[in-house]
Amino acid sequence: MMFAKLWAELLPVGRDEATGGYRRYSWTGSDAACRAWFARSATQLGLRTDCDRNGNLWAWWGRPGGQQAVVTGSHLDSVPDGGAYDGPLGVVSAFAAIAALRDGGFRPARPIGVAAFTEEEGARFGVACLGSRLLTGAVTPDVARALQDRDGVTLAEAMVAAGRDASAIGPDEELLAGIGAYVELHVEQGKALADLGAPIGVADGIWPHGRWRFDFAGRADHAGTTRLADRQDPMLPYAATVLAARDVAQHYGALATFAKVVAQPGAANAISSTVQAWLDARAPDEATLDTLVSEVCQAAGTAADLHGVAVRQQCESVSPPVSFDPGLRDRLTSVLKAAGTAAPVLPTGAGHDAGVLAARIPAAMLFVRNPSGVSHSPAEHAEMADCEAGVVALTAVLADLAAQ
Ligand SMILES: [Zn+2]
Repeated sequence: MMFAKLWAELLPVGRDEATGGYRRYSWTGSDAACRAWFARSATQLGLRTDCDRNGNLWAWWGRPGGQQAVVTGSHLDSVPDGGAYDGPLGVVSAFAAIAALRDGGFRPARPIGVAAFTEEEGARFGVACLGSRLLTGAVTPDVARALQDRDGVTLAEAMVAAGRDASAIGPDEELLAGIGAYVELHVEQGKALADLGAPIGVADGIWPHGRWRFDFAGRADHAGTTRLADRQDPMLPYAATVLAARDVAQHYGALATFAKVVAQPGAANAISSTVQAWLDARAPDEATLDTLVSEVCQAAGTAADLHGVAVRQQCESVSPPVSFDPGLRDRLTSVLKAAGTAAPVLPTGAGHDAGVLAARIPAAMLFVRNPSGVSHSPAEHAEMADCEAGVVALTAVLADLAAQ
């Protein structure tokens, strides 16, 4: 089957031997290898490939621009040591669904496209869904060009190094105007489908979420000679902030995570001079998210004062809540029902390109069951039978949407 073949070809690309996780960061060597895989797979299916001004990949069955295209896909980049399914499952399923439509003699009445959006995870430049945000104008090109990775390389420099023209990035109204619907298939990043005993689900909406950077500035000193009372240790208010975030999230039925932290100078026998840490916060609605973040900031300020440390907070990105197009969502549900699949409708706390695109074009998502719910980890998994059920579901959806 086409899915298994394409999946096996992509599987080794960008995988770290030691952890088994993926390190597919945008505009790196493993990203180039993913792009080459995309082009090869599309060409094998007789699709025309294209890279837009923002570095997003497209493969077209039919010529885009005239009739409103039906687009499916996802992303190929990963978080550090991410799993195999988050992103690639949607792209591989898209190609497999097109192969199934072709084999079945389907003739689309409108163009069908496969998209792979760049820097969806924001793992290299810090802004999630950067490729789709640039496409839709949700981030300004100047701001994007100046984003830096952890080595101080800007997006503009990284794109140029990869042979791309960074001066051309920005909204692409012509491309957007030719798309009538976007359907993204994604591995579920939770256990709702497993608990319901359903292989496939349809997304209801995405919680508002964002990233905030906390800079704690203290004073580097000797860990062996500086009395506790004389220290200005930024690690202490940072630690208090992590615990406060957990409590506040618990209180509001929301989610708050500190997972990325950089301490300087980073020596085991020296008190840190600075601690930089990132809060990822998600909540059912915007008011709750605002309250959560302001309470975490307050806790950080109080703890910093207590330890003679300065703290600054900066919002790096925030995504408003997304309700997917109700008409498209209901249509997906009824197409799947007619095909014999009862697909429950689920909300999610995870951001996706479909959520960014939903601001401009009707968008929807299909989820594939994740037995453990684990994601953003090498342990992320989906059973092959469920992946194949995902391809069958996506094939039915594309056949319906592109039929007239
Ligand atoms: Zn994803």
